[in-house]
Amino acid sequence: PDAVTVSGLADLIHVRLDHLQRVITNMGMGELHHDYMLTPEDTTAIVLEFDINPIITEDKGKDVQPRDLPDDMSEFPLRPPVVTIMGHVDHGKTTLLDTLRKSSIVDSEAGGITQHIGAFAVTLPSGQRATFLDTPGHAAFSNMRSRGAHMTDLVVLVVSADDGVMPQTAEAIEHARSADVPIIVAINKCDKPGANPQKIREGLLKYGVQVEDMGGDVQVVEISALKGTGIELLVENIVLLAEVLDLRAPTDGPVEAAIIESQSEKGRGLSASLLIQNGSLSVGDIIVAGQSYCRIRSMTNDLGKAVKIAEPGTPVSATGWKDLPEAGQTAIQVESESLAKEIIENRIGKAKQAETLKQIQAINAKRLVSH
Ligand code: GDP
Ligand code: MG
Repeated sequence: PDAVTVSGLADLIHVRLDHLQRVITNMGMGELHHDYMLTPEDTTAIVLEFDINPIITEDKGKDVQPRDLPDDMSEFPLRPPVVTIMGHVDHGKTTLLDTLRKSSIVDSEAGGITQHIGAFAVTLPSGQRATFLDTPGHAAFSNMRSRGAHMTDLVVLVVSADDGVMPQTAEAIEHARSADVPIIVAINKCDKPGANPQKIREGLLKYGVQVEDMGGDVQVVEISALKGTGIELLVENIVLLAEVLDLRAPTDGPVEAAIIESQSEKGRGLSASLLIQNGSLSVGDIIVAGQSYCRIRSMTNDLGKAVKIAEPGTPVSATGWKDLPEAGQTAIQVESESLAKEIIENRIGKAKQAETLKQIQAINAKRLVSH
């Protein structure tokens, strides 16, 4: 705010209202009512009286950071790739996700009902797995880029064989490139009479995407998401590329997981979908994400089945959150609930302090302008 009441200022600088009023009186400004509107000059003078340091004091509170992993990950086991499907509107992203999801039900002996948890796993007859994010691709990317961490290992770029390379196709290529994530091209709707996959291959060249059979090294698969043709081949290609990428993660040590999404559900309370990145998450574990924490009460997989433990590359929905975490945040395991509380208290305190400084700076800026 550019002007503030006495009680507003008391909130802002975290002092009791009666204390602030006493200070104001001692400054010779009289006895001011709680809703008296202070001028920016008054505010600055009062704030100086409280000796508020405009530099955030060195943080001594407890916090937790993702662990450092070695450059050489070869000692760790392989994990499934995490895949984002991108492409122009109507080129068949949703249809492809649905078809992939169904293929995973057929493969699972449980044959459960798929639950939307923001991601799902597909298992090949060989037992190899791939995890597909079904949150909007761009959301996954903006999170990934802002956090500088990889939520997605590779992109399946869907291009409709009866259309061409369209604006969102180009955008997806750009996203993948700037995040340094490899692409597999899926030329979709090859069942259509007017389909011209060759035209797509040529169209992609203009955007620097050179597919295998055009002399490049980008894998390409012709599919029909609607009819289900080429889907297994697509997943095989994904798994193959994942092997080349040599995706590995430690299955022990403190858990790190990306929050895919979170929601409040009737009967289940607060839950969040997590993508395990490092370590193995178990029921009873305590994780901290942003200003929230969770003692994992229950976990379910993408088929709605209860699971007790989740390993890297696996999506699960977890209940037991005290507050809703935000998508894109990283959840990190801590040893105890008391430590989780301490970390959150510290984070909230730091956020409040930063906000106070921002507001005081805004008031000061206003004062400078008015002079
Ligand atoms: P999105 O906007 O990329 O999610 O595209 P959708 O998955 O919603 O698909 C757009 C339309 O294309 C829908 O009417 C689909 O039924 C249709 N479609 C998607 N894949 C195929 C396919 O492989 N063949 C045919 N013939 N139609 C498809
Ligand atoms: Mg769609």
